[in-house]
Amino acid sequence: MERKIHQSEKLAVVGELAAGVAHEIRNPLTSLKGFTQMFLDHPSMFNFTEYLHIMLEDIESINEITNEFMVLAKPHMTVTTVVEFLPLINQVIRLLTGQASLNNAQIDTQFCIDRATVKCEENQLKKVFVNVIKNAIEAMPGGGKVTITVTSNPNKNLLIQIKDEGMGIADGHLNQLFHPFFTTKENGKGLGLMVAQKILDNHQGHLHFTSTVGEGTIAEISLPAESVKGFPSPTAS
Ligand code: ADP
Ligand code: MG
Repeated sequence: MERKIHQSEKLAVVGELAAGVAHEIRNPLTSLKGFTQMFLDHPSMFNFTEYLHIMLEDIESINEITNEFMVLAKPHMTVTTVVEFLPLINQVIRLLTGQASLNNAQIDTQFCIDRATVKCEENQLKKVFVNVIKNAIEAMPGGGKVTITVTSNPNKNLLIQIKDEGMGIADGHLNQLFHPFFTTKENGKGLGLMVAQKILDNHQGHLHFTSTVGEGTIAEISLPAESVKGFPSPTAS
């Protein structure tokens, strides 16, 4: 009996996912089909380059969705290496500098450890931080500060806090953040956090949100480390 319920719940999730994917892919496909048909029917009537930009956007949209879903399809992590964690997070921040300055957002870091290494699939782990920090930037349409704190606990778990001064998350939304296609953004895909959680799962990590509407949000990530140096002593302030 228990197993049956479990299976039907799984099927419901698969159905929800399939419907979402189909919906998201259908719009750009319909658009691509329309343009292609139009060019075939009236080859000399249109300025192609004008429409090629839109077609490229459609293709990128489909590409993005399929890329995100590759993470779910992969049963195991592929190549794991031992990576220095603080340079990894610095690289992600550099990657997002352009977007941050466009949004008048400033990214501050507070590293409370000297060094740490993590056994991970490097690009996947970067994706977690890209997705979470991007959300923090996007939560502050008028600009503001994102503070990233990295510390550890005595069990060699890294604790990474990403704090923003954004709009916050309504109570009713907190339990939907990881659902596929949940988004409150006009152009959002609602896949970033689902993917982040799946990758963290693969790394025995966790992601947890606390938020106050109108004040901001704190995303807390915990991640097992291979080694940590300069762990803050309990008396240090
Ligand atoms: P997307 O960014 O495409 O909407 P995500 O999966 O990355 O998809 O995020 C899902 C939703 O979670 C967002 O649309 C937003 O409502 C909410 N969210 C995530 N992070 C934050 C944050 N830092 N502040 C406010 N809302 C957030
Ligand atoms: Mg996002």
